[in-house]
Amino acid sequence: MRVLLIDDEPFVLKLLARQLANLGFEQVVAMEHPHDALAMLESDPGAFDVVFLDLQMPDMDGVEFVRHLVRIQYPGGLVLFSGQDQRILHTVEKLANAHRLHVLGALHKPVNPEKLKKVIETAPPCHERAARKIYAPDELRQAIHNNELFNHYQPQVELGSGRVVGMEALVRWQHPDDGLVYPDQFVGMAEEHGLIDDLTRTVLANALEQARQWHDAGMGLQVAVNVSMDNLVALDFADYVAHEVERAGIPLASIMLEVTESRLMKNPLTPLDILTRLRLKHIGLSIDDFGTGHSSLAQLRDIPFDELKVDRGFVHGAHDYAPLRAIVEASLGMAQHLGMKTVAEGVETQQDWDFLRGTGCDLAQGYFIAKPMPAAAVVDWMPGWESRQPTLIKKKS
Ligand code: C2E
Ligand code: MG
Ligand code: MG
Repeated sequence: MRVLLIDDEPFVLKLLARQLANLGFEQVVAMEHPHDALAMLESDPGAFDVVFLDLQMPDMDGVEFVRHLVRIQYPGGLVLFSGQDQRILHTVEKLANAHRLHVLGALHKPVNPEKLKKVIETAPPCHERAARKIYAPDELRQAIHNNELFNHYQPQVELGSGRVVGMEALVRWQHPDDGLVYPDQFVGMAEEHGLIDDLTRTVLANALEQARQWHDAGMGLQVAVNVSMDNLVALDFADYVAHEVERAGIPLASIMLEVTESRLMKNPLTPLDILTRLRLKHIGLSIDDFGTGHSSLAQLRDIPFDELKVDRGFVHGAHDYAPLRAIVEASLGMAQHLGMKTVAEGVETQQDWDFLRGTGCDLAQGYFIAKPMPAAAVVDWMPGWESRQPTLIKKKS
């Protein structure tokens, strides 16, 4: 495990390096100047597995540094530490989390060795970091051609009854050498290199085949498929989807398309045309990652979505953090006023679950319920979930 320490006080650096050495972490680089540390990370964002970041530094504060980590897509773990008020530490932690950085924890100075041990033990092992490789468009093209893409499915359950009502299809790449590769390593690339249509068609075909099997088995599950805004540039997309769903022999309403806008559209009229026609055909439309990027109020105003998914950056931990709670409640309130179904993503703990039950949110999705899994694992997961249901829905929220 390679660790980078950033703090303007040499004494703190020395102490922390010694504490880490006592815990068996020898590959530690200590830097007094955040600009130097940043330059190093810019040239190789994956050079370290964990970065320890002091919040109060004269050249660049921790919040600015976090912003740069987001910009360079730093993939490793982050530990924040500071002698400041706990609440500031907490706020920066939430901020970094909302930015999707992998925050391992926040430590108050002087750092307590026990807490340090706990935090660093949650860091993912090196081999997981090493697997983050950049793939070339041709490799992905070949993978699609060789049927190396398949879907995992993550359950969506009713908060009121605990009933499983849907499954979100999440694409995975079974790479012949690298093992399982996650979508954050290739979906963006597919969008940039004109491969997103092939990718989406593959995911949709697999999802429809699976949906039909569940349908035939009498499990009335709605299957959600992620669609990129870059899919919504060819006017025949709505007809294509409707045709494929009909060909699979399942009701149009049992498919939900989740749309995220990761970048601003040059021509917003074509997506509007396509999305509206999908709705006219009774295919479900969901606004994904609501509250982030461009998944925003203007989208709600302009596009006839029938479901809103609150981004997990707002959901997890909202129960004990007033600003997140306010955002979740406001988002849900808006959706309810618009007659939309609501889904909370990133439900990771019992507290998240209990909090959401009190909000009137319809569906929950997250690790607390189940991690995404191969379709074949769903039947094994189901009885365990059903046995948890009574306690989860009886509990007063
Ligand atoms: P998303 O659509 O918002 O999907 C939810 C992501 O959150 C999934 O990551 C899922 O594994 C993860 N997740 C679920 N529950 C929890 C939780 O409780 N805690 C945390 N921390 N994470 C949770 P995954 O599978 O890595 O997918 C990442 C993103 O990649 C997706 O975000 C989606 O935007 C995109 N994606 C996945 N499959 C496809 C696809 O077939 N087509 C397109 N265009 N995008 C896809
Ligand atoms: Mg999604
Ligand atoms: Mg999402």
